[in-house]
Amino acid sequence: MGYSTVVEDNIDVLVVGAGLGGTGAAFEARYWGKDKKIVIAEKANIDRSGAVAQGLYAINCYMGTRFGENNPEDHVRYARMDLMGMVREDLLFDMARHVDSAVHQFEEWGLPIMWDDKKETYQREGRWQIMIHGESYKPIVAEAAKKSADKVFNRICVTHLLMDDSTANRVAGAVGFNVRTGNYHVFKSKTVIVGAGGASNIYKPRSVGEGAGRVWYAPWSSGSAYGLMIEAGAKMTQMENKIVLARFKDGYGPVGAYFLHLKTYTQNGAGEEYESKWFPALSKMVGKEYLDTEGQHLSHKPIPTCLRNHAFINEVNAGRGPIYMVTKEAFQDPHLEEIGWHNFLGMTVGQAVLWASTDVDPKYENPELTTSEPYVMGSHATGCGAWCSGPEDVSPDEYFWGYNRMTTVQGLFGAGDAVGGTPHAFSSGSFTEGRLAAKAAIQYINDGKADGIVVGDAQIEKRREQIYRPMETYTVNRNHITRGSVNPFYINPRQGLDRLQKMMDEYCGGVTVSYMTNANLLNIGLKKLGLLAEDWETGIAAENIHELLRAWELKHRILTSEAVMQHTLFREETRWPGYYYRGDHMKLDDKNWHVLTVSHRDPETGEYTMEKAPLYHIIDDEKPAKKPAKKKAAAKK
Ligand code: AMP
Repeated sequence: MGYSTVVEDNIDVLVVGAGLGGTGAAFEARYWGKDKKIVIAEKANIDRSGAVAQGLYAINCYMGTRFGENNPEDHVRYARMDLMGMVREDLLFDMARHVDSAVHQFEEWGLPIMWDDKKETYQREGRWQIMIHGESYKPIVAEAAKKSADKVFNRICVTHLLMDDSTANRVAGAVGFNVRTGNYHVFKSKTVIVGAGGASNIYKPRSVGEGAGRVWYAPWSSGSAYGLMIEAGAKMTQMENKIVLARFKDGYGPVGAYFLHLKTYTQNGAGEEYESKWFPALSKMVGKEYLDTEGQHLSHKPIPTCLRNHAFINEVNAGRGPIYMVTKEAFQDPHLEEIGWHNFLGMTVGQAVLWASTDVDPKYENPELTTSEPYVMGSHATGCGAWCSGPEDVSPDEYFWGYNRMTTVQGLFGAGDAVGGTPHAFSSGSFTEGRLAAKAAIQYINDGKADGIVVGDAQIEKRREQIYRPMETYTVNRNHITRGSVNPFYINPRQGLDRLQKMMDEYCGGVTVSYMTNANLLNIGLKKLGLLAEDWETGIAAENIHELLRAWELKHRILTSEAVMQHTLFREETRWPGYYYRGDHMKLDDKNWHVLTVSHRDPETGEYTMEKAPLYHIIDDEKPAKKPAKKKAAAKK
């Protein structure tokens, strides 16, 4: 195919994907590894890549311990409650105890964080969220990573991890191609930190046709975090924990600032409060621990995000939609009106544009909300990702195998969406996870764990052949096109994606079935997904380098989807009503299922094995941690 091979050798830490997780990893790797070779491979351009690329209006994970606001223990309790008890508390605690320092660094690097003069703290949006002027959040953080790394390779789509030919189950780098030049890139590295993204667009989105591509999470998040690690044989956890978001309709504008800061609230189409009427029955489904309709919730026990979705979905299905966000009251206050618009101008400009173009002025008209299609990710209110080791001082034996954030593949680490069981990390927590992973990766190298890695030419050649095969398929078969893009000898990436989205939607609980699935549907879905995977292997065609990118993104999405289906099938219960429903097991079954799910896909055979892992509650729920003495003014200085 005439593309050059570019080999980067002797890397100590290879960061794959430089969103917030990857940038944190590069930054911290340099701190602990002054003499180490640190290289970043990024699909887009590090200055505007990852989920934070478009900007953010809030940092959703900040303890404020120096202001006497929250302790890490409080955050573990919050995230645990929000995810109905199913989290890796060791990883969460470890992230929470370090996250504030990351935020303080962002401010030092130039990120404007709003300040509350009266309280002498950062301006809070809610208990965990602080408000920022964050349109340039990513470029600011990227600068630190660029200064830390020896080399940044932009425009590299990483397709596979390289494995050590001398020791089984040990990582040895990664390969991919440049999405502009087409060149084949080989990165030989002692460790790899995967900071690639979660998965948008594996489910049929609500917006199709002319609105296609307008989704909530970054559309370029192609599940590569999972695709890469699953293919390398890393164990995954909580992949059934797909997330559905309440969002402003069609623009997918987030609701956090509105609910928490503007204090707006929802109503049904008739202008009535509707949530509370669904809660008594729901409480019976999930148990009082998660929804106590009599005692109501303590402040550290907010109603889990999925359960709020449940009320929304059921009210709409009962024919009483649309659900409105009541903005008309808050927007009478000029300051709040300004915040409401700024929120989207700095973060989701499409929502502001959509309102303007459809004559919706939230001051005079309550905008519609919707529930999104499901996403597979691990940093918002959900925890899909790799089964990783925790830190040695906190983690029980089953959660610890030597190096913090290391997957079950030696030398392969994760951060952000890549790490499972750590919801509510958001941007700051993902960066922090990157830091933690990098520190451990350097230790792994210094301990000699990466010594003697061998990557033979055969592996490199095999991957090269695989990567460009879709272009070969196109070249060989293009004369068979019958009409338009229809060719009996191949499918193109768009056709493959349409197939994937339809089957995930219909068989694995997407929007058109109101998030409902069951074992029969999942088994059919798995069969059809198997055929799609087979078609991908034998007949995906790429007309050009851009389509080659789309082909490999589809591959990662297929691998992710298979894990989601397998996990959803494995759990015979509805663990998060409002995220998905198992119609054949509508109740939460805490007695038998107070566990985490762990999967393994055999890299040779593609066979899945599922197992349960113990769910340890490390942080006590009964005794709230003692808060530190307040040091407001002094702390700011
Ligand atoms: P969002 O803007 O929807 O992405 O959410 C930002 C933050 O606000 C996240 O930490 C959410 O979990 C939280 N959040 C959003 N809506 C609510 C709500 N109604 N009650 C409590 N927390 C919320």
